[in-house]
Amino acid sequence: MAFEGLSDKLSAAFKRLRAKGKLSESDIKEAMREVRLALLEADVSYKVAKDFVAQVSEKAIGAQVLESLTPAQQVIKIVNEELTALMGVSEVRLKSPKRPPAVVMMCGLQGAGKTTHSAKLANMLKKQGHRPLLVACDIYRPAAIEQLKVVGAKANTPVFEMGTASPVQIAKKALAHARDYGNDYVILDTAGRLHIDEQLMGELKDIKSTVEPSDILLVVDSMTGQDAVNVAKSFDDALGIDGVILTKLDGDTRGGAALSVRAVTGKPIKFVGMGEKLDDLEPFYPDRMASRILG
Ligand code: GDP
Repeated sequence: MAFEGLSDKLSAAFKRLRAKGKLSESDIKEAMREVRLALLEADVSYKVAKDFVAQVSEKAIGAQVLESLTPAQQVIKIVNEELTALMGVSEVRLKSPKRPPAVVMMCGLQGAGKTTHSAKLANMLKKQGHRPLLVACDIYRPAAIEQLKVVGAKANTPVFEMGTASPVQIAKKALAHARDYGNDYVILDTAGRLHIDEQLMGELKDIKSTVEPSDILLVVDSMTGQDAVNVAKSFDDALGIDGVILTKLDGDTRGGAALSVRAVTGKPIKFVGMGEKLDDLEPFYPDRMASRILG
């Protein structure tokens, strides 16, 4: 299960704190050291973990907490609030441009779950009454277009493709096609690479400047922990992203990516992938995630 190690370690630390009854400053410091270790073991970046604990400590060492009748409870409440704040406010809506269609550009490294999540997003939009169009901009992997057609059919969504034409041209033509056919969302499934390279970024920047997407969503694999956060930072620096889709949260991810992405990039996690099926897409709510981590 996701976050299992982190949840277990935090609850062990809080159990010890509760057992103490009245708390001293050093009890809180000891608990915070455990919280910091738990975060680091969950692959939260060093700076994020350090800042987090400093923030919680500052609030928890206040007289109100230490002198309250249930000090441990107060500390847990502060941890919950700060975890929520760390992951940011909920921003799960896609932007709507002045003139439709809205263009959602899906980016990410190969295998992160881009194609799957393009279809999941189409499926979600269809259920909300929209008319999405999926667009095959990954021209490098021969199987990519076929894969998009398969998942597109499952999501009951048309797939626009032009074989191995240039991705910029495909995106441009897809937009015209969407206007002609009344599609209000265009979802671009762009090419991924094993590593970030200049050619990949160059191509994405060209697509961006040509079709001016309303949302650039970066798809990252939560199982890759801090690497996912580094990928998000690189994409944001080079391309500018609007949000993140964090995938494979149904696996036993330690949680580092979910906890650090917002703090490191300033960009919100908008959706999370919870499985391989079309319906396994959920909006990301920081408060619910914090409560889930704290058990
Ligand atoms: P792309 O290369 O980025 O387009 O990645 P794909 O969409 O092809 O996904 C790569 C693999 O990850 C596929 O086998 C997907 O079924 C799987 N996958 C994608 N999202 C999830 C998810 O949220 N949970 C799980 N368990 N598997 C996923």
